[in-house]
Amino acid sequence: MSRFFSVIPVADAVTIVLGIAPQPVTEMVPVESASCRILATGVMADSDIPGFDRSVVDGYAVRAADTAGAGDAIPALLTCTGRISMGQPDGTLSLIPGTCAYIPTGGVLPAGADAVVMVEYTEEAGETVLVKKPAACGENVLLRDEDFKKGETVFSPGRRLSPQDAGVLAACGCGAVAVARKPVVGIISTGNELVPATVVPGPGQVRDANAPMLAAYLADYGCIPKVYGIVRDEKEAFEAVLKKAVPECDVVILSGGSSKDDRDMTAGTIAAMGAVLVHGIAIAPGKPTIVGRIEGKPVFGLPGHPASAFVVLIAIVRPLLDRMLSVRMPLQRTKQATLSVNIPSQRGREEYVRVLLDGSVATPLFGKSGLLNTLVRSSGLVRIPAGAEGLEQGCEVEVILW
Ligand code: AMP
Ligand code: MG
Repeated sequence: MSRFFSVIPVADAVTIVLGIAPQPVTEMVPVESASCRILATGVMADSDIPGFDRSVVDGYAVRAADTAGAGDAIPALLTCTGRISMGQPDGTLSLIPGTCAYIPTGGVLPAGADAVVMVEYTEEAGETVLVKKPAACGENVLLRDEDFKKGETVFSPGRRLSPQDAGVLAACGCGAVAVARKPVVGIISTGNELVPATVVPGPGQVRDANAPMLAAYLADYGCIPKVYGIVRDEKEAFEAVLKKAVPECDVVILSGGSSKDDRDMTAGTIAAMGAVLVHGIAIAPGKPTIVGRIEGKPVFGLPGHPASAFVVLIAIVRPLLDRMLSVRMPLQRTKQATLSVNIPSQRGREEYVRVLLDGSVATPLFGKSGLLNTLVRSSGLVRIPAGAEGLEQGCEVEVILW
């Protein structure tokens, strides 16, 4: 095996990744637990919402024409002929000119009425109601089907549901909805030097930062992360953990050991147990990245440097997750900004530069990919396409926000 990488462009790597994406699987969940899940089927309103013309204030249902010109000095005098109760349409009540009916917020507008005057602008005097403000036709009334019409598409598949979506789903008659099943993603940290976060590192040892970082990102993205701990750089250890993780997960991500040194076990083990499809991507940071497959499941080898692992997770792994979740509305937020200085870049590789945003001005935080501090001091990443030799000061960039 050559010690040098024959790298492929990011777009080609993503095409290969999408080619091995497992089919999306759906499941039903109650609407109250549907927030943040990806809707698998479209949802239509099963009836008009609201189902009747209703008042949005406490007051008097009126015929707007009866209140024309009303004011404090010369109020309109209307005869109150009924009181509407909540949840009960009054089928017998019909306003004729010169009459009104008391109506609470949410009450069904009686026949003949076309507006509601707020109680604050009225005064009761026995059977008579003094209206001190004119009402326009439709004022303080929510018309039947004004929100959603029966049969109207309320949500399309692929939508990431929000808490307010859950409320609308319930209003549309959904007790449960079909959503994409959360992919189970195995996370394996590799390296003889690694120790867990709770251990004080001895000389030459490093705390495992990747597993918690990857797990947190994946959980936020709508996956179920399954952490398999730290594995030593030994072929038998790699084989044992992959034998366990592959059947238990939909996707497996290893970090570390993805390069071409003799001590790097990831590519050799994936090749022995399945196939390596990509080894080396024209991306910076993150060149020593592996895409493979074992028993039909995608297996990734990410570089050990946390910043590199994170960039590859976003640029290469995330498209697979989007496909598995059938996402139409990626979670990734972006912001347009202006570059404060030139960013040089080597043509031929796609570069992801960490930047700090101050308002809409983006300043690159240049640093080695091994540094952790730029990952947290930065606001996000600016992508420099492989064909560019860098970006010039003052140019507009899209910042992929953390
Ligand atoms: P490797 O990709 O295994 O060659 O590792 C590259 C660098 O990343 C080395 O300095 C490792 O110690 C470091 N590294 C590897 N895995 C992790 C991890 N899980 N957490 C923090 N640093 C790591
Ligand atoms: Mg290593």
